[in-house]
Amino acid sequence: MSTVTVEDIVRRIDEFAPPVLAEDWDPIGLSFGSLTQPVKKIMIALDIDADTIQEAKEQQIDLIFTHHPAIFRSQKTLNAMDQRRKEYIELIQAGIAVYSAHTNIDAAENGMSDWLADQLGFPKERQIVYTSYQMPYKKIAVYVPKENADQVRKAMHKAGAGEVGQYKDVSYHLDGWGRFTPQPGSDPAEGQINQETVVEEVRIEMMFPATIQQTVISAIQSSHPYEEPVFDVFTLENAQKAFGYGRAAEVNQTTEEMIHTVKRAFKLDGLKYGSVSTKKVHHKAAVFGGAGEKYYLDAKKQGATLFITGDISYHGAQDMLRDGIAFIDAGHYIESIFVEKMAEVMNQWKQEEGWTVEVYQAQAQKDVFKFS
Ligand SMILES: [Zn+2]
Repeated sequence: MSTVTVEDIVRRIDEFAPPVLAEDWDPIGLSFGSLTQPVKKIMIALDIDADTIQEAKEQQIDLIFTHHPAIFRSQKTLNAMDQRRKEYIELIQAGIAVYSAHTNIDAAENGMSDWLADQLGFPKERQIVYTSYQMPYKKIAVYVPKENADQVRKAMHKAGAGEVGQYKDVSYHLDGWGRFTPQPGSDPAEGQINQETVVEEVRIEMMFPATIQQTVISAIQSSHPYEEPVFDVFTLENAQKAFGYGRAAEVNQTTEEMIHTVKRAFKLDGLKYGSVSTKKVHHKAAVFGGAGEKYYLDAKKQGATLFITGDISYHGAQDMLRDGIAFIDAGHYIESIFVEKMAEVMNQWKQEEGWTVEVYQAQAQKDVFKFS
């Protein structure tokens, strides 16, 4: 395998957490370095801070992939007059690229919101608390010789095509005949040059969310026996896939039990909570990464009576209790789960793509809040 570049890795990140899912105010993407930079070692980190940069230099990291964008507030100068800008200069001098996926990974399927829900042991049947984006679906129809239909169909499913609501591997097949005349210079899998060829073919149709189009087409091209596979792509007006923040699910636990669940799940020494009674049983709870208090009514709409998030304010807490919602403030740092979970995903891509990169999980960063 040739050299892996920042661009190769970014392509997989953008497919997993499409940038279109990010909020307008969110400065996601490449904040340092260039797409053409070679990558031998990649670090996964929650934030860029002085300790993380030091660790990256010691570990000879080429690319840091963070959850929180490295440059959040715009800078008018890049001098070394304060610590933040010194960090930026250090990154540039060390030639380390930095890429971030923030609200787009919060909203992604099997991204941050699902990682948090998984960690809490929420069942797989869960609802999105706040839908932030409706992704249009597309449909692809491809024509394949009958004996190769299964292999192409499976490759398309593996690329993510054929998901409809709660159903996987959804496709439609139609038998027919394909006709073509190979021209001089071609290298046909079937038939002879300048002779009309008739092949028993199958038309396979599948739906897929618009963002994975390139992956689905690549899967067809690498699994199809023909030199020039024929396929049609249609935009659908009747089907969309919802993406968004937070997950609600059935828990059937008391406030007290949920406090233990949260502490155990995120290895917390302490947390803040509010509840009319700690003995109250919650049929449904919701978890929301970062600072999610303004979405508590969306959680309530999903039937949740307990809301788990970070950075809850005094007045936000009052509002929740007033509306009958118990809350657990688990801290913003529960999002550090990003490091471990993203490393798993990255290692999976590494295998699929045959990358020769090393995936390193940042260790230096600690929560800024302590309990005494
Ligand atoms: Zn956050």
